[in-house]
Amino acid sequence: MTKGLLSVDEALEVLLAGARPVTEIEQVPTLLACGRVLARAQTSAMDVPPMDNSAMDGYAVRTADVRSPETRLRIVQRIVAGAVGEPLAPGTAARIFTGAPIPPGADAVVMQEFCAADGDAVVIKKVPKPGDWIRRTGSDVRKGAVVLAAGKRLAPQDTGLAASVGIGTLPVYRRVRLGLFFTGDELVMPGDPLPPGKIYNSNRFTLTGLARVFDCEVRDYGIVPDTLEATRGALRRAAGECDIIVTSGGVSVGEADFVKPAVEAEGSLLMWRIAMKPGRPLAFGRVGGAAFIGLPGNPVSSFVTFLVFVRPFLLKTQGVAEVAPRAIEARADFEWPEPDARREFLRVKWNSQGGLDLYPTQDSAVLTSTAWADGLVDNPPNRVIRRGDPVRFLPYSELYR
Ligand code: AMP
Ligand code: MG
Repeated sequence: MTKGLLSVDEALEVLLAGARPVTEIEQVPTLLACGRVLARAQTSAMDVPPMDNSAMDGYAVRTADVRSPETRLRIVQRIVAGAVGEPLAPGTAARIFTGAPIPPGADAVVMQEFCAADGDAVVIKKVPKPGDWIRRTGSDVRKGAVVLAAGKRLAPQDTGLAASVGIGTLPVYRRVRLGLFFTGDELVMPGDPLPPGKIYNSNRFTLTGLARVFDCEVRDYGIVPDTLEATRGALRRAAGECDIIVTSGGVSVGEADFVKPAVEAEGSLLMWRIAMKPGRPLAFGRVGGAAFIGLPGNPVSSFVTFLVFVRPFLLKTQGVAEVAPRAIEARADFEWPEPDARREFLRVKWNSQGGLDLYPTQDSAVLTSTAWADGLVDNPPNRVIRRGDPVRFLPYSELYR
C-alpha cells in the first residue's frame, strides 16, 4: 500500500459494510419491471411449451406409416397455431404450421420442403424419425423450475421469460432515491452564458446519467455555492428525501472545500485518500437516514470513482446479489512504461484487432478520454504494461450493469 493512502479494496470493504439494502418490496406489472431488482426468486407453475408442438410448417405423420420415400398419405386435417387437432388416424397426415399442437397419434413433423402436396394427399419425400421437428412439452421450462433468481436486475429477456411462464406481475425492491448536488462557485449550467473564470457543470450530466443507468430515482439539488451554510443546507434537504447522497467537488482539504465540515456538522464522516488514479479524495458518511458519498470534482475522477465505489454501494443498496463487475483479460496494444504507485484506471478503447488502445492523455481533467473509451484498464500499482501484455479490462458494458 502507498503510504498514508487507503487501497481501493480496503475502502470498498468499509463502504459495502455500511450499505443498507432496501427492504420494501412492490409488485409491478411484468411489462414495467425492466431495470428493477427482483426481490424473490420466480418459479414456473407450468411447462413451456405447454404442449408438444410443431417446430416447422409441414405435415404431422405417424412414422410407422412412412417407411420409404414417396409415401403418399391422405391429408385429413389442417392445424394452425392456436388450434387443437383431432387424433391422427393411421395412414393419414395433418397439414400443420409452426407452433400448432401435435395431434395425438402423430410422432413427427416432415417439413414442407420435403413434401409435395397433390390434391387432398401429400407425398413425403424424406423418411422421418420419431420426434423430428417436434418441440416437446417442458423442453424450455419445466413446471417447478426456478426461472429467475432473487437479486437480479431484470433485463428485457428476463421479463420475456417471466411472461412465457404466465407471470403477470413481479415483486421488486422499491427504487433507491439518489440525491445529487454539485459544489463549486465556478459552476454554470450549459445553456447559460459563461462568465470569465467559470466552467460548465458537466458532472451533473455524467452523474445523473449514471444514476439513471442504475434505475435510481434521481433527486437533483443543483449547484451549491462553496460556503459551509449552503453545503449544510443542501445536505439536510437531501438527507430528508434520499437513501444515498452523492456529491461532486469540495472534498479536498482546500479553503473552499466545505463538504467535510458540513457532513461532520450534519452527521458523521470518514475522509479517505485513496491509492487510485484518477480520484484520490473520497468521503463516506451518513447524514440522518441517508448514506453520503462525496466524489472528487475533477470530471474524470468523479466518473471513475462513481463506477468503482458508488456503483457497488448502490447495487448492494438496491438488493442486487452480484455487485462486483466482471472483468475481461484483454491484450494491450499500447505501452505504459511509467506506471503510478497508485492503482490506475486507464481509459481505453477496443480496436478491431481485439486489442485495447490507450487514450493519449490520461489527465483527470480530460473528459474526452471517457467519452472516447469503451472502458477502463484496472492496472495494479507500479505495473509496467508492454505492447501485447494481458491486462484487466473493465468494459463499460459490464460497469453499466
Ligand atoms: P474540487 O474537487 O472541488 O477541488 O474540484 C476539482 C476540479 O474539478 C476543479 O477544477 C473544478 O473546477 C472541477 N469541477 C468541480 N466540480 C465540477 C463539475 N460539477 N463539473 C465540472 N468540473 C467540476
Ligand atoms: Mg471545488
